[in-house]
Amino acid sequence: TSEDLRQKLRRIDHRGYPAYKDLRGQYDFGGYRLFIDHVQGDPFAAPSHVSVHLSGRQAGFPGEWLEQDCRRIALQDELLRRFGRAIGKYSRQAGGSGKSGVLSCSRPGQEILERSACQFDPKSGALTVRFLVGFPAAGRTVLAGELEKILFNWLPACVEEALLFSRLPAEKLKAVCDLADDQEALRNEVRRTGLVAFVADGSVLPRESGISQRPMKNAVPFRSPEEDRVTFKLPHRGTVTGMGIPAGITLIIGGGYHGKSTLLNALERGIYNHIAGDGREFIVTDRTAVKIRAEDGRCVNRDDISLFIRSLPNGKSTADFSTEDASGSTSQAASCVEAIAAGAGCLLMDEDTCATNFMVRDSLMQRIVSPEEEPIIPYLSRMRALGAEGVSTVLVAGSSGDFFRVADRVIQMNQYVPRDVTKKVREILSENGVEAETGEPECGKDRSVRESGTRRCPQAGPEFRGRNGRGPKSKVLGPDGFMIGRGTVDLRGVEQIADSEQLESLCRELIRAAEHGMDGRTPVKRLAEEMESEIRKTLRSAAGDRPVPGNLAEIRSLEIAAAVDRCRMLRWK
Ligand code: ADP
Ligand code: MG
Repeated sequence: TSEDLRQKLRRIDHRGYPAYKDLRGQYDFGGYRLFIDHVQGDPFAAPSHVSVHLSGRQAGFPGEWLEQDCRRIALQDELLRRFGRAIGKYSRQAGGSGKSGVLSCSRPGQEILERSACQFDPKSGALTVRFLVGFPAAGRTVLAGELEKILFNWLPACVEEALLFSRLPAEKLKAVCDLADDQEALRNEVRRTGLVAFVADGSVLPRESGISQRPMKNAVPFRSPEEDRVTFKLPHRGTVTGMGIPAGITLIIGGGYHGKSTLLNALERGIYNHIAGDGREFIVTDRTAVKIRAEDGRCVNRDDISLFIRSLPNGKSTADFSTEDASGSTSQAASCVEAIAAGAGCLLMDEDTCATNFMVRDSLMQRIVSPEEEPIIPYLSRMRALGAEGVSTVLVAGSSGDFFRVADRVIQMNQYVPRDVTKKVREILSENGVEAETGEPECGKDRSVRESGTRRCPQAGPEFRGRNGRGPKSKVLGPDGFMIGRGTVDLRGVEQIADSEQLESLCRELIRAAEHGMDGRTPVKRLAEEMESEIRKTLRSAAGDRPVPGNLAEIRSLEIAAAVDRCRMLRWK
């Protein structure tokens, strides 16, 4: 019971810091059980892992709020935010050296993700919340009285305030569940009607700044062009209208600074649900949409990029292409082929971050440099073939009219307001004697892009072995990448990673997969899907008293595959 903990605490007061290790275990606090899962080695080390567990009866949440994943995940997210605010008030209030008195937990951004930090067991309604406590020390001796304050006075208050259904504002929690229902319904509607994306009227797309995902204040709200306006009925909110982007090729054009990239960025994040007040609550993008950009310097492992690049000056094969240092165009070609092989149904691209020579070659250039001399078959020439294989493209291209020929629809951003100019574009094309490509694409029948990537199978290299059988050391470097052993995986070019906790999951799972299963016989797509489902299982199992780290979040197989593809520490078969 909690009294045992109090006794232990009093016994170890003023002893050497390692005496804190004696506290490991579980204690009944009446309204919840407290787990001390891992104790830090010294006051300057990463804080200790602590969790609270409430039974279904203790937490008291109605069963119908937990049955459906979308509601459960949204509620978990809301409780985690509340709990984080509650313990934040007490952080560092206890005295001591190093990380003494730090109280923190996972801090969600604008996206709603399933996280190990806060998990309901949907069947029993039991609730587990994991967080960090810096066990207080004076120099290197135990300050038991300070920890007693944290665990016996402050924490119970935080649990009451943030985790008990009876103490929480019911109407606010209901609003969270209602939004989750509506978002889920909207996603289903978007899929059912064959759209790749939907942007609701009234959405706020721009962010506060380049380093903040919070909504811009006083932004021009989104207003759909009449031609593309679709209407859906949502269970709670009722009717929503907005711009539907159907499968196919969609071009976003317009003058500089008119909001093109902002629209594309909103679509990129539309794979996630957003919290109320974000402005992107009803922006929904196909779950398999992948942002692609040029990433010169990335590694490429045995990709067949011959769809885009026929030959290279040094005679290197492009059907089996590897490099430690790709150029802008080869990197983008590789990323396209990889994303498609991993299951992408829609590619999102922005001219700002594309390699121009990969995207398009204009007619004058074609007259000077003959096709035989130019190894690159630009993306422009492959878009329709990709479309025929079920790979849509949404492309921001304000600088070249060459894309007009292949576009199914053209949206012009004008002072942050979209306009459908498809008809106008068609008229201008015909006035100029340019024929729009509407028939069968000229290539693609002889080869399947989707299949071309299915033969690549990675195998773990020595970096994954670590030393003394303890497995490799690893470290997540924010949302931009991670390290395993001495190898770094740079994911700055994988722009739909929203949160470093996604990489905590990924990095952990990659090490596990390297131990089992990454045998050089499993293709990337299957490997990534298996890893995604393992991560899901781990997150679910965090509802309970298993020792699961409190800093894991869900991540799509598409980002997992992208990371595997950018991992320099693998061997490829
Ligand atoms: P483009 O890609 O067309 O050059 P951006 O999308 O980068 O333009 O947008 C340019 C600027 O306008 C950015 O600072 C962005 O935050 C701002 N902006 C975009 N959309 C809106 C909007 N709806 N209301 C207010 N400002 C916006
Ligand atoms: Mg731009």
